[in-house]
Amino acid sequence: MLTLANAKAPIIGSLVAVLISFNLTTPKWASGAGISAPNEPFDSRGASENEAPTVTSAAKNGASRFNTFLFGAAYYPEQWPESYWEPDAHRMRECGVNVVRIGEFAWGLMEPEEGKYDFSLFDRAIAILASHGIKVIFGTPTAAPPKWLTHKYPETLLVYGDRRVADDQSRRHVCLNSPVYRDLSRKIVRALVSHFKDNPNIVGWQIDNEINCEVSVCYSNSCQASFRKWLNAKYGTLESLNERWGNRFWSQWYTGWDQVNLPFPTPAWHNPAMMLDYKRFISDSATSFVEEQTEILRKYRPGDFITSNGVFKNINYFNFTRGFDIYAIDNYPCFIDEPQYPTGAGLTSVRGFMGRMMVMEQQTGPAGQTYMLRSPRPGEMNLWAFQTIAHGADGVLHFRWRGARRGAEEYWFGVLDQDDVPRWRYQEYKKEGREISKIGKEILGSTVESDIAVIKDYDDEWVYDHQYFTREVNIGAEFVNLFQAASEQKYNVDFVGTGANFNRYKIIFGPSMILMDPVLSGKIKNFVEQGGTFIISAHSAVKDRDNAMTDQTLPILVSDLFGVEINYFNCYQPPSREKNSIDFSDGVAAPINVWADVLKPKGAAVIGTWDRDYLKGAPACTENKVGRGKAVYYGSFFNLDSARLLLRRFAADQNLKPLLGGIPEKVEVTRRTKDNANYYFILNHSSESVTVAPGLGFYDMLEGKPAPESISLKAFEYRVLKK
Ligand SMILES: [Zn+2]
Repeated sequence: MLTLANAKAPIIGSLVAVLISFNLTTPKWASGAGISAPNEPFDSRGASENEAPTVTSAAKNGASRFNTFLFGAAYYPEQWPESYWEPDAHRMRECGVNVVRIGEFAWGLMEPEEGKYDFSLFDRAIAILASHGIKVIFGTPTAAPPKWLTHKYPETLLVYGDRRVADDQSRRHVCLNSPVYRDLSRKIVRALVSHFKDNPNIVGWQIDNEINCEVSVCYSNSCQASFRKWLNAKYGTLESLNERWGNRFWSQWYTGWDQVNLPFPTPAWHNPAMMLDYKRFISDSATSFVEEQTEILRKYRPGDFITSNGVFKNINYFNFTRGFDIYAIDNYPCFIDEPQYPTGAGLTSVRGFMGRMMVMEQQTGPAGQTYMLRSPRPGEMNLWAFQTIAHGADGVLHFRWRGARRGAEEYWFGVLDQDDVPRWRYQEYKKEGREISKIGKEILGSTVESDIAVIKDYDDEWVYDHQYFTREVNIGAEFVNLFQAASEQKYNVDFVGTGANFNRYKIIFGPSMILMDPVLSGKIKNFVEQGGTFIISAHSAVKDRDNAMTDQTLPILVSDLFGVEINYFNCYQPPSREKNSIDFSDGVAAPINVWADVLKPKGAAVIGTWDRDYLKGAPACTENKVGRGKAVYYGSFFNLDSARLLLRRFAADQNLKPLLGGIPEKVEVTRRTKDNANYYFILNHSSESVTVAPGLGFYDMLEGKPAPESISLKAFEYRVLKK
C-alpha cells in the first residue's frame, strides 16, 4: 500500500490520446448467486459466482485477456503455513473471488542466491488456487530486492539528496537507473515468466509495485550519468543546453558535460528549467524501467494483460502507462478523513491515463504502519469499492486477504484478521462479491462518457512543485474542486491530457496551465471555434515548454483567442481568502485564493471585476466569443466557490443536462454506458439515510427488479440502476 507522505499529494491525471484496445469478449458468468447465512464462511450456499477470467487462444501481441470483471485480493502464500492455502482458497471462492495478486515482494524466495531460481512455492500455491477456480495476477518482485543483491552490489542502492545511501532494511531502496539493478531485474522477470510461460492459471502481470512511492528522487552516480545522457539526447550540444536553460545567469554556463549535476542541495535556488527537466527525467527513468519488463512479459505471455499500480510523484502517467493494457489504482480513502470528493477525483484521474482502469488494492480495514488511519465504518468498504466501479473500474482487488502477523505492515488489515477468524469485514467482502456477480458481466467494458473535461498537464504540475508561490497554491486541489463541483451538479467529468481529443467535450477547464506551446494553443482555438467553452484559470500561458519566459505579452499564444492581455497581477500572502473576491455581472461573487490577474480586454467582454483592494473594479474574468464557442479567462485559481459558479453558469450556457434529477447534492451519481444501456451508480456517502427520486423506468440491478420512483438509501448504501 502507499504511504502517508505520498498520499497527501492529491492524485490527479487524465486521458491519453491513444486508447489501448481491449478484447472485450463477453464473459461467461454463472447464475444462481444466493444469500449466505452470516458467520458461516464455509457455507457453500453463499458462494458468489464470479467466474474466473480466462485466457483465449487467439491472444497475441499483447491483446488483453481481460474478459471478466475481476474480484479478489492481494494474497501472500509465502507468509503463511501451507496448511492455510486450501482453506484460504475455499473461503475466497466462497466470497466470489476469481483472481488474486501474488508474488510482488518475494524476490528473496524466488532467487535465494544469484542465478539460482526457485518458483516451487508459487507452483503449489497457484495449483491450489486454480483448483478453486481462482486465477492469478503475478507481481514482478522488483520492489523488494533480496539481501544478497544489495550487499553484493551496493551501487544499486538509492541515494538521497544529501548523498546518504539508503539502507536496505525496508523496500523500494533501489536506484532505477542502476545498470546492475536493471540487469538483475530483467533476469528475475525473465526467469519468472519463462518458468510460468505455459501456466493457464495466470491472467495478468503487475510490474513492480507502487513505483516512486515513499521516495521519488534519487541522486546516485547512476542517476547522475543517466541524467547527463538524457540531456545530451534532448539538447544535442552543451551550447544548446546552456542557451535553453539560460545558463548565463549566475555563471552557470557549462563547459563540459561532467559539470552537469543533478539538483543537489544548494545555498540558493535552482534553475526552473533544470528542475522541470529533472522531473521529466525521473518520469522517463521509471517508464523505461517498466518498459523493459513489459517487453520480457509480452514475449513469453502475449495473451496476458499487463499493468502496474498506484499514483505517485514525478511520473507522467500518460507516458508511463503507454505499454500497459489497463492501469490500476491503489485506493485508500482513509488517507483523507472525508474522502468522497478527493477519492472521486483520484479515480477520475486514473481512468484518464489510458481510458481503462481497475483497482489493485482497495482499502479493507484499518490501515497504518507507524501511523494509523481511521477504520472504514460498517458499509463504507463496500461503498468505496462501488465508487471505484462507478468511475470506471473493471476489477476490484482488496488489500489484502489476511492481516500479517509480522513485518512492517502488520497494522494494515485485510478481509480476515491475523487470527484467521472471519468478522464483519469478511461478511462485507462476501456481500461485495455477491453484488459484483450481479452487475460485473454487464458493467465490464462500459465507459464513463463526459461532456466536461479538465486538462491535466504534468509539466504544469512540476513547474508549480518548484515555483509554488505560496503554500496555499495547490494545483491538485483545483482538480478536486472541479470534480466536486461537477459531482454536486450531477455531471460526469474527465481529466484528460493535452493529447486528448478536445472535441469530444462541450466544456473544458484549464487549471493553472502555466506552460503553453503552439500545438496546444491551436487545439484550444479549434475547440472553441467548433462551439466549445474553454475556461482557463489565472497565471496560465506564462512560459514556453523550456519553462522560460518569452518576449510575448501574457497570456502567450492565446491572448487573441481569449481577447485579453494580463495587465498586472497580485499574489496575496496567506491567509489569502478574505483579501479579495470577484463580482460577476449576474450578481454572484466568488472569494478567491492567492492569485489575482488584472485583465486588459482587447475584444473580450468583462463578466467579473475585482471587489476590493487597489484592484477594485478592474477586470477579473472575461468571455470572448470565437467561432461558435467561448474562451473564458478566469483571473484566479479554481477554488471550490469559483468551480461551482463557473460550472453552473457555463453548463447552463451549453445546455448540459444533469445525469439524473431528484438526487440530493452530496449523493454521488455517475453513469457508465455500453451499447444502448446506461448504468447509473447512486452512492450515499453520508452516515444518514437519504431519499433519492430518479423517477420511473429504471431497473435495480442489485435488487434484481424494477426500481420504485423514489428510493431510500441507508447510511453508505448504494444502487446500480439500469435504463
Ligand atoms: Zn539513482
